[in-house]
Amino acid sequence: GQSLAKKEERIDGQIKKRGHKVVAPFERLSNNRSTVTLSVPDQSPMERFSKHHLNVTQLCEQSWCEIKVVYGFLKPHMKRREMRRTAVTTGASIHLARELEANPDAMTVVVHTREDREALKLINLIQMVPALEAGQLVREFPVLGVLDGVFFLGVVDELYCSKSGDLVLSELKTRSHNSLPHPAQAKGHSLQVGVYKLLFDSMVHGSMKRDQLLHFLKLRPHQAFGSELQRYAQKLGLLAVTFGELVDHLLVVLHFSNLQPIDKLCLEYRHQSSGVLIGNREVEFEETQLRAELRDYLAFWRGEREPHGVDIEDIEEAWKCRMCPYEESCEWRRNRLQEVMIDGSKKAK
Ligand code: SF4
Repeated sequence: GQSLAKKEERIDGQIKKRGHKVVAPFERLSNNRSTVTLSVPDQSPMERFSKHHLNVTQLCEQSWCEIKVVYGFLKPHMKRREMRRTAVTTGASIHLARELEANPDAMTVVVHTREDREALKLINLIQMVPALEAGQLVREFPVLGVLDGVFFLGVVDELYCSKSGDLVLSELKTRSHNSLPHPAQAKGHSLQVGVYKLLFDSMVHGSMKRDQLLHFLKLRPHQAFGSELQRYAQKLGLLAVTFGELVDHLLVVLHFSNLQPIDKLCLEYRHQSSGVLIGNREVEFEETQLRAELRDYLAFWRGEREPHGVDIEDIEEAWKCRMCPYEESCEWRRNRLQEVMIDGSKKAK
């Protein structure tokens, strides 16, 4: 099949500068504990952390602990350190090896703007649609769309047709322990694949809108691709030279595709260092329940409720704090511990 563009090498200086402007104030805040506040009145987390859209993986992190998500923004250097420590890169190399297995001709395309970067995802998506229609396995399939008023982006690990003709979504999870995950971790994984299905199904049902995509991603429709991306698009036979034209093309491809909604959701757990299979799990898709959960998660991002941390009195939950990089400074945890101590001393009297 056609080779998929694998990787971007650099984005232009303007983007780096913008990223720096966003991050720097939070880093300064994190050096001064007295200025760290978990929620700000009249400012939702979406506004406070300059979020125009969410990644599906952010919901999974949120299902673990919302206070940890907030600290991740306030103390980004600690989050980066944790990601390095938990060997995300090892898991990433297994993902990359699999992707290269499916696309041995994957090539590197240099991108210069945000439009280029998002266009590359859409080009990959456009290429994968016919492969999926033909019943081939595809990897790293981008999904995007609006759920409950919030724009989401995600990348599905694997989509394939089973022998019985079901369209299966499979998500690979790597684990440092050679065992299946604790229910608290599995909860986030089930949420992730459920939301991927909502996004994928709405894409094949034609719910994606051009204006939404441009509006939420804050992209310029008339921005021409960088020279390398233009060459890449031409090589694939795509006539689009601007982001807006590419979006139009994608919408036509989706409209005329015969893709069906996803039938089955699976999680595949592998040992991080050896790559050995630990086990597979099938995830039940309960749409009503999932949408209700999603509404509650989004209520946090919209600032309609306070963030919730770990219930330190629940033995099934409390252990999360022991492996959290913010444990020492976590105000939620400190306040809950004080409350528990006060309750305990009242009962003792
Ligand atoms: Fe959440 Fe516990 Fe970490 Fe605080 S210490 S951020 S409550 S996991």
